[in-house]
Amino acid sequence: MNPRPRNATAEPYGTTYGRADGRREERQEEGFRTVHRSAVAALDSLLGLPGDEHESFHPAALAELDRREAFPAAACRVLDDFGLSEHYVPGTAGGRLTDYTELMLLLRTVARHDLTVAVGHGKTFLGAASVWVAGDDEQVRQLGQLVSSGAIASWGLTERRHGSDLLAGQVAATRTSRGWALNGEKWLINNATRGRLVCVLARTRPDGGPRGFSLFLVDKQRLAEDAYTCLPRVPTHGIRGADISGITFHDAEVPDGALVGEVGGGVETVLKALQLTRTTCAALSLGAADTALRLVTDYASGRRLYGRTLSDLPRIRRIVGEITAAALLAEATGIMASRSIHTLTGEMSVTSAIAKALVPELVHHVLDRGAELLGVRSFLTETYADGVFAKLERDHRVVAIFDGNTAVNRNALVDQFPLLVAGYRRGRVDGAGVDAAARPGTPPPAFDRRRLALISQRGCSVVQSLPDTVARVRARAEAGSLPAAVADLADRIRAEADDLHQELAAQRRTPRDVPPSAFALAERYELCYAAAACMLLWLNNHEALAHEQGDAGLPPELWRDGLWLRACLSTVLTRLGHTLEAADAEAYDRLAEHTLDTAPPTLATAFGPAAVRSPA
Ligand SMILES: Cc1cc2nc3c(=O)[nH]c(=O)nc-3n(C[C@H](O)[C@H](O)[C@H](O)COP(=O)(O)OP(=O)(O)OC[C@H]3O[C@@H](n4cnc5c(N)ncnc54)[C@H](O)[C@@H]3O)c2cc1C
Repeated sequence: MNPRPRNATAEPYGTTYGRADGRREERQEEGFRTVHRSAVAALDSLLGLPGDEHESFHPAALAELDRREAFPAAACRVLDDFGLSEHYVPGTAGGRLTDYTELMLLLRTVARHDLTVAVGHGKTFLGAASVWVAGDDEQVRQLGQLVSSGAIASWGLTERRHGSDLLAGQVAATRTSRGWALNGEKWLINNATRGRLVCVLARTRPDGGPRGFSLFLVDKQRLAEDAYTCLPRVPTHGIRGADISGITFHDAEVPDGALVGEVGGGVETVLKALQLTRTTCAALSLGAADTALRLVTDYASGRRLYGRTLSDLPRIRRIVGEITAAALLAEATGIMASRSIHTLTGEMSVTSAIAKALVPELVHHVLDRGAELLGVRSFLTETYADGVFAKLERDHRVVAIFDGNTAVNRNALVDQFPLLVAGYRRGRVDGAGVDAAARPGTPPPAFDRRRLALISQRGCSVVQSLPDTVARVRARAEAGSLPAAVADLADRIRAEADDLHQELAAQRRTPRDVPPSAFALAERYELCYAAAACMLLWLNNHEALAHEQGDAGLPPELWRDGLWLRACLSTVLTRLGHTLEAADAEAYDRLAEHTLDTAPPTLATAFGPAAVRSPA
């Protein structure tokens, strides 16, 4: 079956998948008709459930490719045939990217199966993002056509000697009579060899500086053969099959039309494009968490020890509950951040940094605790579940390293502390933007690239809404829709946020000398954001979802008494150094029951059901 969408109507999380003749794609299933209501559901169905995966996504086959350090080409072809690349292209350029949360969930679906495939295929979105942000109409249209038809794009920012320090880059572009000539080496570039297109950041003023770099979209097919050399693939600890290589340019002539944005605007464009890509990278971590939770749950439910099942041991249930909560916290952060691309666009310099720093860190914790529970089976590379967990642990490490590592993202937050303090003190909140961000079940407003900004003048509406949000939680508790204990947790978070902003205000620093304590403050800020995201998502959706019937990802009872919210707020407070009341810690055990008895709960499936099943 090829569920490539042909006939689409707007719906939450994507499109109704149908056929060219206008009839819906349908699958007969023992008296039931399954209609994929969204792109995410269609992709999920195509790639298959654990134990019944598409043949190119079989874990043993992917593990074998990893051992041989071979690129998972067949799996990527499946994604090409599905039309995933069209989701990397904005709707205005003829593609299907109209909802960044949908894109995140699509890549999460791939990452759930294999991170090498997700990184190898999804990189084209990262490579193209600068053109979506700053390209002219013709560039956007042309790249849209190329990407939609399967062309691979890579992003050449890093250089061997300069890592995160973009302003030190030495690849240079000089004017020629016909355009520009590129010289120098970009190294550690994902898909530099396989890709047809490379979006290159190059120095256009010898003395560099913030306005001394420009971006060029280089089409390797249009370069002279001797104008570039692809560098050998670099062996890596994880995502071993990925094409992590590089490219050297030797007087590579590109036309004027290759320049993306203005001369000198390269760094600004990159920083804005990173706001989209860093947020979308949450997908990689969320997919990893999905698989880790599944493996841990299967093991805890199936393993017999001391005449009991492992999951009967209180400590094991506690771990399952804690990592379920950490995964939900990561998911809430990812959903709010990706929705914010549409609804709080001007704040993405803050939001993307939070998502890119916090989500991989939370999922790293899920993997660490999961490994502890799996014991030996987390360490075996073949014997248990095809060694998926061990591979996942290796693969996931890269998420905190590339596209701006955790320190770089925390530094981006530190740079904006004065604005965050002013915004919190003055209670500056884009109420409509926050409200829309926290309603993932509704189609988002169109993304407007002109509203991206290098720094967020308003600060961060989600965190700045905390006083009001916490008051709303208290009101729900007083109205009987939440236990008072949840409102108590919310109050403690509000108090933390108040203290934190005082400490942010007291920070003394120069841009070149950021003290280690500032990074710790940034981490606490991220946790306040995550807590606010959970409260907002619960407040805006609990009435509808607490009574929802059917196969929603979070069962109604988890919404009704705010159990998932309680466990997530407890996780935030624990990470902030608080000690939990015994009853709050027990919320983890109740959450674990759901994870073990049914499946690990997720927010995304609650907002957009995986598939609609109706009697035939
Ligand atoms: C698998 C893989 C794929 C990649 N793909 C691409 C790609 O497609 N395109 C591309 O351009 N690059 C790519 N990279 C490069 C990646 O983005 C770089 O690794 C990244 O820029 C960081 O560089 P670095 O690790 O060399 O560390 P450096 O930047 O040299 O940093 C060294 C150390 O300093 C810390 N540090 C850095 N900045 C700060 C700061 N401001 N404050 C405090 N501490 C700081 C870091 O955390 C790190 O511990 C890839 C890397 C890998 C591993």
